[in-house]
Amino acid sequence: MYHPPVAGNASTGVETHPLMPGPHPDAHAEPAAFAPAPAVAQAGRAAVAPAPVPPVDRLGRSIRDLRVSVTDRCNFRCRYCMPREVFGRDFQFLPRAELLTFEEIARLAGIFVDLGVRKLRLTGGEPLVRRDLHLLVALLAQIPGDPDIALTTNGSLLAAQVDRLRDAGLRRVTVSLDSLDDDVFMAMNDAAVPVSRVLDAAAAAGLSPVKLNMVVKRGVNEASILPMADFARERGHVLRYIEYMDVGNTNGWRMTDVVPAGEIVAAVDAVHPLEPLAPLYPGEVANRWRYRDGAGEIGVIASVTRPFCRGCTRARLSAEGQLYTCLFGTEGHDLRAPLRSPATDEELDAVVRRIWHGRDDRYSELRTLVTLDRPKVEMSHIGG
Ligand code: SAM
Ligand code: SF4
Ligand code: SF4
Repeated sequence: MYHPPVAGNASTGVETHPLMPGPHPDAHAEPAAFAPAPAVAQAGRAAVAPAPVPPVDRLGRSIRDLRVSVTDRCNFRCRYCMPREVFGRDFQFLPRAELLTFEEIARLAGIFVDLGVRKLRLTGGEPLVRRDLHLLVALLAQIPGDPDIALTTNGSLLAAQVDRLRDAGLRRVTVSLDSLDDDVFMAMNDAAVPVSRVLDAAAAAGLSPVKLNMVVKRGVNEASILPMADFARERGHVLRYIEYMDVGNTNGWRMTDVVPAGEIVAAVDAVHPLEPLAPLYPGEVANRWRYRDGAGEIGVIASVTRPFCRGCTRARLSAEGQLYTCLFGTEGHDLRAPLRSPATDEELDAVVRRIWHGRDDRYSELRTLVTLDRPKVEMSHIGG
């Protein structure tokens, strides 16, 4: 076991585009589609004992991705995520003492890698507002099994930190950018941050290919769909369009605000013809499309109109150590208490296994034309 060294839908009724017929390729994947954890994650154990079997949940899904939120704070106030009237001056963010330390995060991440996780993604809130994030990346990079380490960021603070992050072992970065038009972008981020600050970061990243995430909201940034496609084609970035989701309870989501993925693909296809790409791995969230002229690809994350719960292999760890097994979860499972009790690695392993075995989440498959009426964790608390 790794010990870090101590360091400083179905019923949405939305029509799909002919390019997107039928359900998501993963929608009905059989449990057998999930391979056990690669031998490399178990290296070192096999000689003394049979490798432990990776846990599988009640719908036959294994655990492959861990998203780690390192803070619930952010320097943006995107209307669809942290509306200023809710996340204003008086909002009580987590006190520092509540946050997991980098060493605690790395220890938990090592346990998840032993359980089959292959990708660790740092997110937030805005992960780069947490000081010295590169020290966490360096700890994660020492986890045996060589997990893929990635970061999702709004990009505004990236240029100053990218060299240290890359040197520490960061492999990939996804930059969120909803428009190239300053007026539209600033209306969306509600923090007066211009597009140029994010673009500088994307250019400086030197981690290629940089992925761009664009949330599309009806009547707000639809006109940016094509300019963003053109921009990403020219720069060699991989663009992912994201359907606006009903995460949390504060963004006032309505189905009529969603631009269905089929409509987005049709808009791009009309100008730059596309053809579908096969999923790279079971549980891939984005539907991918290649430009027929060879100028790269786009993806669409259609969690509203084409739910992919059956292939969902993601767990999410909040900044204070709550484990969520669904983006739309109501409550997390406390890992910080056992971590600080202090539990042994074997005990923590057993806690996570028990949680995962009991998992039966499939919120997006159950959502209808309206968001389900129940309390949900905010996106800024557990990341995207
Ligand atoms: N602050 C970082 C950022 O914006 O990239 C990381 C955290 S943010 C919660 C992760 C992703 O979730 C971003 O790409 C963001 O656009 C997306 N997101 C936030 N709220 C969303 C919503 N209501 N629907 C769809 N995507 C959303
Ligand atoms: Fe901040 Fe990211 Fe949420 Fe925007 S989407 S408010 S940048 S956490
Ligand atoms: Fe996974 Fe929950 Fe999203 Fe379904 S709704 S894909 S279970 S996170």
